[in-house]
Amino acid sequence: MAARSLGAGGGLEATELAIRTAVTRLGASLLEDLLAADAGYRGPRIGCGSGHQAAFVSYRDKAIDTALGPVTVRRAWYHCAACGHGLAPRDAELGVAGASMSPGLAKMTARAAAAVPFAKAAGLLAELAGIDLTIKRVERSAEAAGTTAATAIGAQADAIRARQVVPLPPPGPAPDMLYIAVDGTGVPMTAAETEGRKGKADDGKARTREVKLACLFTQTTLDHDGRPVRDPRSSSYLATFEPAERFGQLLDAEARRRGYEHIRQPVVLGDGAAWIWHLAEEHFPAATQIVDLYHAREHVHELATLAARLLRGHRPDWLAQRLDELDNGDIPALLAAGRDLKFTGCLATDRDKALAYFETNAHRMRYKHFRSLGMFVGSGVVEAGCKAIIGQRLKLSGMRWTVPGAASIATLRCQEASNRWDEIWQRPRNQAATSEPGICQQHHTQTATG
Ligand SMILES: [Zn+2]
Repeated sequence: MAARSLGAGGGLEATELAIRTAVTRLGASLLEDLLAADAGYRGPRIGCGSGHQAAFVSYRDKAIDTALGPVTVRRAWYHCAACGHGLAPRDAELGVAGASMSPGLAKMTARAAAAVPFAKAAGLLAELAGIDLTIKRVERSAEAAGTTAATAIGAQADAIRARQVVPLPPPGPAPDMLYIAVDGTGVPMTAAETEGRKGKADDGKARTREVKLACLFTQTTLDHDGRPVRDPRSSSYLATFEPAERFGQLLDAEARRRGYEHIRQPVVLGDGAAWIWHLAEEHFPAATQIVDLYHAREHVHELATLAARLLRGHRPDWLAQRLDELDNGDIPALLAAGRDLKFTGCLATDRDKALAYFETNAHRMRYKHFRSLGMFVGSGVVEAGCKAIIGQRLKLSGMRWTVPGAASIATLRCQEASNRWDEIWQRPRNQAATSEPGICQQHHTQTATG
């Protein structure tokens, strides 16, 4: 038997990998033949894309890395004298204009780089797919894919808001409630990205930039104990470094896409930050506003730390009572206990500041009432989302990002977590590739020589 002649496990491994390499090479040559069937000659003159005519110059080779390894495609090259730039229509059709990677390989690369740091992603591609790419190429390609995806999401959002696109209502009976959970978290940045920004570090300088994150999910049923149950696979995520105003527009469009207009009860969950409630009032006036219980509890802990200075040491019973009051949504009782702390001077200021959070948000903390309506009161989902989507990839030790780099990877991770990964890649071919810097230069060089 053939298998027996392979000998021990090591022999099998070497053989299977050798066969994979051979089959992949064969595949690459098949692909090259297929590509050669159309050399992309579209007549002596074609539109250049900017209103001029570009003239046919010659056939030129282009090297493309594909999922089957490197291939060379010979295609017609045109030059526009008015723009001074060259183009190959075939490149746009194949989705490789300005790029040196095929769409298939770019997608694999983005998948790996969205999951793990670039160096690890390059290692995974080499081991799992037999494709060798430098770390820098993995980074550039994945970031270009994420940037393209973010641009497409923005354009779709604008179209939805302008009613040029009307999202279909969700299939089946409409869910009962739509939750829009909003949060922000800091992503570590390079010095250039935080220059002149104020931060929380000891020297007063910022080390991070805030990414705004939203998780939208629906809920229709309650469990045996009357607790709300999130509809399975109903979460979608949105992340951006853009200002709150733009974030609000993207969020508005995402809510509409999720069927906001067909759902009985929208709910906005937030951590108490004022910008979140401004957005809620502007875009979702019908929504019930709830301060996420986990965040509110943190504020009670802070108040208890302050109280301990007056009550001579840690007083677990004081804290436990306040947490009970919070859980019951009895904010007046909590405030009364807080005001009983007879501080003077800056401690009094600290107390008033801490209490202001509960005063301002009291109507968003009627937890007993919200629970009786069968609503979620804690945004554990968005907390987990923040940790998983942002923290596990963008906040690993030693990482320093640029805003565009972090934004693109965050976008890829959001699309993946939203089960919308494939939608990123379904766009017109001539928009499929944004330029990779190294390749752009090659493009210009070709123009100059041609
Ligand atoms: Zn032109």
